[in-house]
Amino acid sequence: MKLTMLGTGNATAIHCYNTCFTLSNEKGYFLVDAGGGNQILKILDEEKIELSDIHDIFVTHGHTDHLLGIIWMIRMIGTKIYRGFYEGDLRIFCHKELEEIIRNICNLTIWGNVTRQFDQRIHFINIEDEKEQKILGCQVKFFDIQSTKMKQFGFFMTTPDGSSLVCCGDEPLREDTEKFARECDWLLHEAFCMYEDREYFKPYEKHHSTVKDACEMAEHLGVKNLILYHTEDKNMAERKERYLAEGTQFYSGNLFVPYDREVFEIV
Ligand SMILES: [Zn+2]
Repeated sequence: MKLTMLGTGNATAIHCYNTCFTLSNEKGYFLVDAGGGNQILKILDEEKIELSDIHDIFVTHGHTDHLLGIIWMIRMIGTKIYRGFYEGDLRIFCHKELEEIIRNICNLTIWGNVTRQFDQRIHFINIEDEKEQKILGCQVKFFDIQSTKMKQFGFFMTTPDGSSLVCCGDEPLREDTEKFARECDWLLHEAFCMYEDREYFKPYEKHHSTVKDACEMAEHLGVKNLILYHTEDKNMAERKERYLAEGTQFYSGNLFVPYDREVFEIV
């Protein structure tokens, strides 16, 4: 299983793309969120990820920085389906209300040849708390992250060789959802900024955490590998070095602060 970070920034980041990523194996690509626009298409093109190899997409929640790239994915894949250049179906995993939002935006902004594929070749699969799905041959359990801002889901994935990966969307794990990440192999967790810079970026106002907070939590849960994403983009040249310097004071596992396009082997 390969993890490719397509974007690592928060909603307003412009010096890196909004947070989204793919998980992939010989069965294809599983796209998680798509950032806020059609730059997703450029990134996938440059990463040589073919749209026709993406059959599973998960949308964590309805905020612009996660959702609007999805509209472009539907537009492009739907057009490929219409023209006969896409084999099989596209599955979009999201919660019920989010499905309505996506359908509405698509119906208002995309030509009918695409939206007519809905429920024919493009399927919305509604996810519910702790409901499991099989994606890329892996068991995936979605869970409600219990956001107070907007309904949002994360997921717990087990690969066929037994590795576990947890994505908790763009908000911190809460006490009730910590169980999913306990002693997991890989945790993808947001860190809006460094604790040192909290007065400037005000992460807590937006229900986000800092590098220190995420690292303390991962240490407490015995997480083996921690990837921090959904960050501010003020100083991209030093982000990795500064975040790692703060985080390693509180976390003894393997800590990663990837640039956009960094790739990880999930084992
Ligand atoms: Zn976000």
